Amino acid sequence: MSDLAVELELVAPNGLKYVQPVGLFINNEFVESSLKGKLSTINPATETEITSVYAAGPEDVDSAVQAARKALREPSWRNMHATERGDLLLKLASLVEEHAHVLATIETWDNGKPYQHALQGDVAGTAKCLRYYGGWADKIHGEVIESGPSKLAYTVRELVGVCGQIILWNFPLSMAAWKLGPALACGNTVVLKPAEQTPLSVLYLARLVKEAGFPPGVVNILNGQGTVTGACIAAHPGIDKIAFTGSTATGRQIMKLASANMKNISLETGGKSPLLVFDDADLDSAATWAHSGVMYNQGQICTATSRILVQEAVYDEFVTAFKDRVRSTSKIGDPFEDATYQGPQITKAQFDRILSYIESGKHEGATLSMGGDAYKDVNGRGFFIAPTVFTDVTDGMKIYQEEVFGPFVVISSFRTEEEAVRRANDTTYGLGSSVFTRDMKRAHRVARDIEAGMVWINSSNDSDYRIPFGGVKQSGIGRELGEAGLAAYSNIKSIHVNLI
Ligand code: NAD
Repeated sequence: MSDLAVELELVAPNGLKYVQPVGLFINNEFVESSLKGKLSTINPATETEITSVYAAGPEDVDSAVQAARKALREPSWRNMHATERGDLLLKLASLVEEHAHVLATIETWDNGKPYQHALQGDVAGTAKCLRYYGGWADKIHGEVIESGPSKLAYTVRELVGVCGQIILWNFPLSMAAWKLGPALACGNTVVLKPAEQTPLSVLYLARLVKEAGFPPGVVNILNGQGTVTGACIAAHPGIDKIAFTGSTATGRQIMKLASANMKNISLETGGKSPLLVFDDADLDSAATWAHSGVMYNQGQICTATSRILVQEAVYDEFVTAFKDRVRSTSKIGDPFEDATYQGPQITKAQFDRILSYIESGKHEGATLSMGGDAYKDVNGRGFFIAPTVFTDVTDGMKIYQEEVFGPFVVISSFRTEEEAVRRANDTTYGLGSSVFTRDMKRAHRVARDIEAGMVWINSSNDSDYRIPFGGVKQSGIGRELGEAGLAAYSNIKSIHVNLI
């Protein structure tokens, strides 16, 4: 690339030619960064470089924050009617749909996820989420509180201010939409940092933000390393709120950095979500959901139901049905081929990490029931891993306790409901969970007893932009999506009027 280019013409592996922004997006313009170094991004299916993008340093974070602060005060945003603000989000949603093929192509190229999943899942979901919050923009209001004849008391919902948003690489566009949608609906301005592994699709979205008509400075997108750009955003005194999706370890760092000016904070972090199968469950259905619940998106899902607990009487039958499902569904291959269900892992580091958990499982004495190695049959390159199933796993094992974030599942058996719930809760995490049973009384009882932000009864991971999403314990703070997602981006102001 020319050292100064902020947009490049690229040709994707599926033959699509398009213009890819590679600059920082500040004040509705793509600009160079103050740093000399650029971020290189790799196609994980071929291990070859796609391109490199500008990475933001402290000065660039400052510029973006100033732009976002200025936009908060500009009449073009501050005085914009909430309905018009909503219209901008609706327009952005329509533009995402118009550009669906380009966005899905970029996501597949940069992330490795199957194109059909990117198109029908990520891109379609991004448009729906933005449209949903566009609809909310002019329905966010306070209330009048009855407090006797001498006083009128009412509340108004106000924006929080400049929001720093730091996301990760597993669903880049969706994670951006989950954060941009509610923040903009509430009237905030944003400085968003995509993950360094997947910088491209959100930059393309930035261009659609400008085309939709958002005033300059309302949305700013900065790529860069977590420890540089991310840390500057988390600590910056001009940022009022920080919203983060990523690992629990980084979440802790961000809490510390954000404490400098006591930022409002919301965190979506890791998980090791349990899936319980009782002996009265529909086992075919349980195996189908359990498969997609852990193998979709190459297993790189924070809510992956990656710890399966099966009641003793149906343990063997379930394990057979689950493995049959993996064999019939998890076709590994070129992510641009329509038949592919599983693409490569995101990076060599994640690939090596998963292989090290496989070694750990073998070493600790679990039974390697399926997979257990790298998959080399896609052109001999790429970070592909065979779907891996460990059975006879016990609670003390590392592979039972720690999040692997890959096509990797552990299965163990239990005797009683009490034991199942106790073991499901024996974790520092509390994100998702699933329960399979035909006994609805038991289903609701277990749903109440499980320590998790979300429980799926007779399904797994069919999340929905209208339904709150988030965790308890060390899986996060606050909720995204649904009406609850608006709470993270608005403050309640109470107004007391003396009537005497
Ligand atoms: P990560 O925490 O390393 O990175 C996530 C983001 O944080 C990236 O943008 C990165 O650049 C940035 N970052 C890294 N260090 C930083 C620092 N010191 N200061 C500021 N920003 C920093 O994430 P990862 O380990 O690559 O991703 C996997 C994890 O994400 C898993 O634990 C998974 O469960 C979790 N996740 C959670 C959710 C959820 O909603 N709960 C969703 C998806 C993934």
